[in-house]
Amino acid sequence: MTVQPTETSTSRTLRPPRAGRSNGQWAVDGREPLNANEVWKQEDGGLNVRERIEQFYSRDGFASIPPQDLSGRFRWWGLYTQRKPGIDGGRTAQLDDTELSDEYFMLRVRLDGGSLTLHQLRVLADISHDFARGTADISDRQNIQYHWIRVEDVPEIWRRLEAVGLQTTEACGDTPRVILGSPLAGIAADEILDPTPVIDEITRRFVGDPELANLPRKFKSAITGHPSLDVVHEINDISLVGVVHPELGAGYDLWVGGGLSTAPRLAERIGVFVAPDEAAEVWLGVIRIFRDYGYRRMRTKARLKFLLAEWGPAKFREVLETEYLGRALPDGPPPAPASTPGDHVGIHLQKDGNHYVGAAPVVGRVSGDVLTGLADVMEAAGTDRVRLTPHQKLVVLDVPPARLDDLVTGLENLGLSVAPSPFRRHTMACTGIEFCKLAIVETKAAAATAIAELEQRLADVTAQIDTPVTLNVNGCPNSCARIQVADIGLKGMIVTLDDVQQPGFQVHLGGGLASADRDEAGLGRTVRGLKVTAADLPDLVERLVRRWLDQRAPRE
Ligand code: SF4
Repeated sequence: MTVQPTETSTSRTLRPPRAGRSNGQWAVDGREPLNANEVWKQEDGGLNVRERIEQFYSRDGFASIPPQDLSGRFRWWGLYTQRKPGIDGGRTAQLDDTELSDEYFMLRVRLDGGSLTLHQLRVLADISHDFARGTADISDRQNIQYHWIRVEDVPEIWRRLEAVGLQTTEACGDTPRVILGSPLAGIAADEILDPTPVIDEITRRFVGDPELANLPRKFKSAITGHPSLDVVHEINDISLVGVVHPELGAGYDLWVGGGLSTAPRLAERIGVFVAPDEAAEVWLGVIRIFRDYGYRRMRTKARLKFLLAEWGPAKFREVLETEYLGRALPDGPPPAPASTPGDHVGIHLQKDGNHYVGAAPVVGRVSGDVLTGLADVMEAAGTDRVRLTPHQKLVVLDVPPARLDDLVTGLENLGLSVAPSPFRRHTMACTGIEFCKLAIVETKAAAATAIAELEQRLADVTAQIDTPVTLNVNGCPNSCARIQVADIGLKGMIVTLDDVQQPGFQVHLGGGLASADRDEAGLGRTVRGLKVTAADLPDLVERLVRRWLDQRAPRE
């Protein structure tokens, strides 16, 4: 490990696209496509590829798929080619998509609000066994992701999913992606309001709508009515966060323009109060602003955060009210500070006298076997509902008091810990080099090893760790596992240490989202020169944690 004292903030001000030329804003510049992606999206939308998958590609096999469908339109149905095994991370940037791609796919199943019934869970488990070599990961966006999917099997997978009300529609692509929702929707005694009707209405009306299926880039949504602020609302394109208006009652505070990736920006409040029965229309107004005014010239500047950085919240509100809603929205209050931890790990009382039980797999990795085991444990406990969380955890709902002990034992036997160590609880990892074509380094195994090591090495001080120390491990700069909002964020890269190039990480420190232990979100800082190899990761974290415990101020 090499440490130099200089620090630089990762909280960069986003630079808008250049003025004085077309930036591809449909409402300003017209619809002339300005890059290759915009050309093929206009020629033939991503949703249209489903018919070809069902009729031709699944029959004729991988080799029959043309490039623009394979690396483009397939995403509209949750399909990415996965990384060819054996290509080391040092070559990622040198190879093109075809050279990096395997003939198998990652398939993402969107679970809006993270909700699953027992029956749906069994269907997901069976798909894992039958088509995905037993793989299944819980993503930090409440999705299930499979690997090793063959195009031949995709129609049958869709048939099984859709028979139980699940879908892969717009799970990826320049579309309205999965809507994050509070895992406690409808069951918590301290809930401000239940977001389920809004999530259901948006999903029913707008997912798969061709009018919203050609956005400048992805569009991420989050909705919660729980005071724990449990949907990472600061890093979505749009978030609706439960608040109580002094005169109008319970509703939502609107946040817009968050996102991480290589140009991180936290969302901003627009300052309006959104009544529950208007929430879907406001969501529609915001996504239509993005569709019409988003910058389409360069994909690296296309996310909504760039438009918000240029306009500011006041102009965004004015355009929303005047051009899209046709009415003014009332001013509204901000959310109160988070009341409790938003990962919902542990055993908690529901408002109906049953319990919800939050459990932690290791960095979101489960499997078909674990999903089957979870379904068996739930069935034995007499419960029908489980939710995934934006922290790669799961929460079993509706557990009767008399079945609680058996359920907890069953979860623990499956490796789903109800009382995890702080290291397991607060570590996340993205897919990494095992399957991701953009990855430079391995992530999940490195994070799992670090967790196991830290549980032993820091056993003497674990009881003193009374606030979370989040460790987010990413395989490249894209920040799928949220590098910039972790206490310790790790960005995968090839590092040169002792004159040897090897997989490692650039270290970011001090980021975080608003939580029960932190009033406001903030982006972490790159510690220049602080890089670490995967092997040295436990050493680094141990040293940082011990130093923090020795020197911290109150509430630090
Ligand atoms: Fe892949 Fe990079 Fe995202 Fe990890 S952060 S899943 S390596 S794109």
